[in-house]
Amino acid sequence: MADIKRIVILGGGYGGVHAAKLLNKKYKKNDNVEITLIDKKPYHTLLTEIHEVAGNRIEPDGVQVSFDKIFSGKRVKVVIDNITSIDFDNRVLTSEDYTYSYDYLVMGTGSEPAYFGVPGVEENGFTLWSLEDALKIKEHIINMFEKASVERDKKKREAMLTFIVAGAGFTGMEMAGELAEFKKKLCFDYKIKEYEVKLMVVEAMDNILPILNEKLQKKSVAYLWRKGVKILTNSAITEVSENAITLKNGSVIPTKTLIWTCGVQNNGFATSLGLSSGRANRNKVNEYMQSVDHANVYIVGDNCHYEETSGSAIPQIVETALQTAEAAVKNIVADIAGKEKEAFKSNYHGFMVSLGSKYAVAQFGNISLSGFLATIMKHLVNLHYLLGVAGLNAMWAYIAHEFFDTRENRSLLGGHLSRKSHTIWLVLLRVFIGTMWLLEGVKKVKDGWLNPDNIYIIQVSGVTGATEQAETVAEALLSSPPAIYTWFMETFIERYAFLFQASVVLMEIAIGLALIAGLFTFLASLGSIFLCVNFILSAMAGVEIFWYIFGSIALMGGAGRAFGLDYYVMPWIKKIWNKTIIAKKTYLYIDEPTVGA
Ligand SMILES: Cc1cc2nc3c(=O)[nH]c(=O)nc-3n(C[C@H](O)[C@H](O)[C@H](O)COP(=O)(O)OP(=O)(O)OC[C@H]3O[C@@H](n4cnc5c(N)ncnc54)[C@H](O)[C@@H]3O)c2cc1C
Repeated sequence: MADIKRIVILGGGYGGVHAAKLLNKKYKKNDNVEITLIDKKPYHTLLTEIHEVAGNRIEPDGVQVSFDKIFSGKRVKVVIDNITSIDFDNRVLTSEDYTYSYDYLVMGTGSEPAYFGVPGVEENGFTLWSLEDALKIKEHIINMFEKASVERDKKKREAMLTFIVAGAGFTGMEMAGELAEFKKKLCFDYKIKEYEVKLMVVEAMDNILPILNEKLQKKSVAYLWRKGVKILTNSAITEVSENAITLKNGSVIPTKTLIWTCGVQNNGFATSLGLSSGRANRNKVNEYMQSVDHANVYIVGDNCHYEETSGSAIPQIVETALQTAEAAVKNIVADIAGKEKEAFKSNYHGFMVSLGSKYAVAQFGNISLSGFLATIMKHLVNLHYLLGVAGLNAMWAYIAHEFFDTRENRSLLGGHLSRKSHTIWLVLLRVFIGTMWLLEGVKKVKDGWLNPDNIYIIQVSGVTGATEQAETVAEALLSSPPAIYTWFMETFIERYAFLFQASVVLMEIAIGLALIAGLFTFLASLGSIFLCVNFILSAMAGVEIFWYIFGSIALMGGAGRAFGLDYYVMPWIKKIWNKTIIAKKTYLYIDEPTVGA
């Protein structure tokens, strides 16, 4: 029996998922390699976007991509378990109930907040380093507004309405941007005057966002200032209590909300493993991303400490996670193949920081962007990442969360895409357009369009009917078909003119029936638009055709789900489709892949 290599990836964050996908690509046809990914949660968390959940911009599922979605149909076995220890000598991972053996281990379990020994932060502050953290912050903020709305003691009310973010790095500034937007809705809901709410970012250093250039730093401060966020620099927090924070200059700010984003360190589990450690307890690796203690253990992302240039460790960012994962995979593959390993080489592209839904700052080398362009850039980068993680499905989910499902107009395009209307309002339009198509099709049948001797749809030389047709389109939008359309028709369609004509008639009838019944409404609407465009190009349609086109566009938004057969048929098709190999290979599931498929 061949020697089977078991590669276990611990942690399905940015590093772990990327490693698993690369390994799957490499070994998808090799049964001698087993790939297992273990995570304590059933989903990959888009950590870089969790401030949007904390600030109530998007729902929690906007930052979750299920492992089912990512790995269904792939040769990666996903195990949901919380690993509590690793026996490196015997190559075994252990959880409360199970053990998992490995030949190669890729570890990427991420970071956790660092409190730097400031008294009271851990007990009284909030952190922002997991989806659960984000949900806790959101709930607490709503709770504070609710309590403040009935509080008559001025001082207590002031503390409840003072929200402080500690740390002006990207996490803190992004959180502050969300709070500035969230505040408006809460003030409205709880009838609190906006001027009563104090938002602050408190930073120990003398500047903010040190990863960005001075120009962008200034723009960020100015933007947040306009949104009512005060930024205090040179103001290290020395103590945090339940009702206040104390700064190094001795001043005390009453507050019941401190969101601590001042720093991160290696997560507790990775720290507890007894591996050699570097800055912030991170596990030391060599240039191949191998643990300096165990050659078959590769450490990626926030867990690893590697000094690419002497004295400066690689940063804890997404690009590091992806690039260290890539290096680890390359070197595991080289090791299995008995080839030479390749040293890690970073290639960072830049940083983007969003300050709410409509403004961001970004720096790519010498290029600085702010406002609309930077926000677009951030969305594009996220979409590019998601395309790699779970294809169009994940991209669409992101677009839906960021643009179609946002609340209080909190998206780059305001509320223009997020207004919803019930499909019931489309039922009459659907039946009307369907009936019009059906009548049109039936009329053509009566007029002899299914008779091969009558060719109306195309100007075929020598065939009767062509001239008659020309007369009927005196009011057409185009006086004659465009040259390219004529060329296309003459080259590909003319010799099958009757087939084409008959297809058009049958399509009209089919589209009509489908729309009336509300069956496959999306496809029928697409077909309706296609026919209309075809009629316009063939100079056979007048301006009234736009009723059909715009009506059909409206019907594409699920018009068959109200009093239509799609209401029953679509869930059934979804179940079957999600089980297919094509859906699995292309990530074109509808919502989530069918469990167990
Ligand atoms: C609010 C916020 C904003 C950020 N913004 C940016 C940004 O704009 N740009 C940027 O580049 N970076 C940003 N970062 C940093 C970035 O998110 C991290 O660098 C990145 O997540 C590191 O990836 P990772 O794979 O090492 O770990 P993670 O993504 O943290 O994944 C770790 C995984 O390990 C799993 N796990 C942990 N312990 C165990 C265990 N014992 N057993 C099983 N599973 C376990 C976890 O469930 C998790 O899925 C931000 C971070 C936060 C919190």
